[in-house]
Amino acid sequence: MTQIIDGKAISAQIKDELKEKVTNMKKDDITLCLAVIQVGNDPASSVYVGNKKKACEYIGIESLAYELDENTTQDELLDLIHELNKRKDVNGILVQLPLPKHIDEDMIIRAIDPSKDVDGFHPQSVGALCIGQKGFVSCTPAGIIQLLKRSGIEIAGKECVIIGRSNIVGKPMSLLLLRENGTVTVAHSKTENLKEVAKRADILVVAVGRPKMITREYVKEGAVVIDVGIHRNENNKLCGDVDYDDVAPICSAITPVPGGVGPMTIAMLMNNCVESAHLNS
Ligand code: NAD
Repeated sequence: MTQIIDGKAISAQIKDELKEKVTNMKKDDITLCLAVIQVGNDPASSVYVGNKKKACEYIGIESLAYELDENTTQDELLDLIHELNKRKDVNGILVQLPLPKHIDEDMIIRAIDPSKDVDGFHPQSVGALCIGQKGFVSCTPAGIIQLLKRSGIEIAGKECVIIGRSNIVGKPMSLLLLRENGTVTVAHSKTENLKEVAKRADILVVAVGRPKMITREYVKEGAVVIDVGIHRNENNKLCGDVDYDDVAPICSAITPVPGGVGPMTIAMLMNNCVESAHLNS
């Protein structure tokens, strides 16, 4: 029987653990505060920002919301980040991406103090992950490691194939699986014989951004399949990068969309906020 990995339940479990930790931290007078900056009013970003605020409220983390006008200049945004970097009461700073085209995203990410970089996107955080030092880890791949571990799936020694090499999912995913002693292959748009490469995987992580691209032709029987993709299909229903109905019957475990990887991203953001208190104290 295929194990359906329940990201909603695992994310709720992590949030409850964090809530308890935060309650105990408050007893020691340690408080937490996350600053969330949104520039413009992209509807998808507004939903994500709203969900982050709700998660903060649930866990007991204060959140500061900065909803800036679409025409905010890069210098104005940099000034705000510098001010938040200095504030002792702010532990984490998150700038919701994407930013309007006139703002250089890389420059904004680099401006965030790495000790407050709860998204784990700062080059220092990425470098620390690469060489196995302490630092914040990008939330989606960190969430996938939790999904695997909390579902009792062994990573050490396993063939892990990731399809996709983005900075926020594919690359950090490869480093995290390596850290867990997996044997890691990263496939991408220029990979030859993708089906054969993907079929080597005991653990297949798919982050291609193409609805239902991965059918059972890419999957070894008994593999674990993690679907990072999220799309709305023609009937306005959510689907992933994996053709779930086709693949689920032949794998040993799979994440559904929705309810798989998605809920984990926010849980791991909250985890990074809690860790930031230790880094800053
Ligand atoms: P991206 O577009 O930045 O990267 C996609 C990667 O897939 C690229 O590295 C590219 O080389 C590779 N690729 C594209 N077409 C390919 C093909 N035909 N064959 C092989 N490789 C191919 O995307 P991303 O930011 O990594 O996101 C991937 C998906 O995950 C998207 O659907 C996104 O919405 C979703 N996502 C979900 C969460 C979440 O919390 N659930 C978080 C981040 C991203």
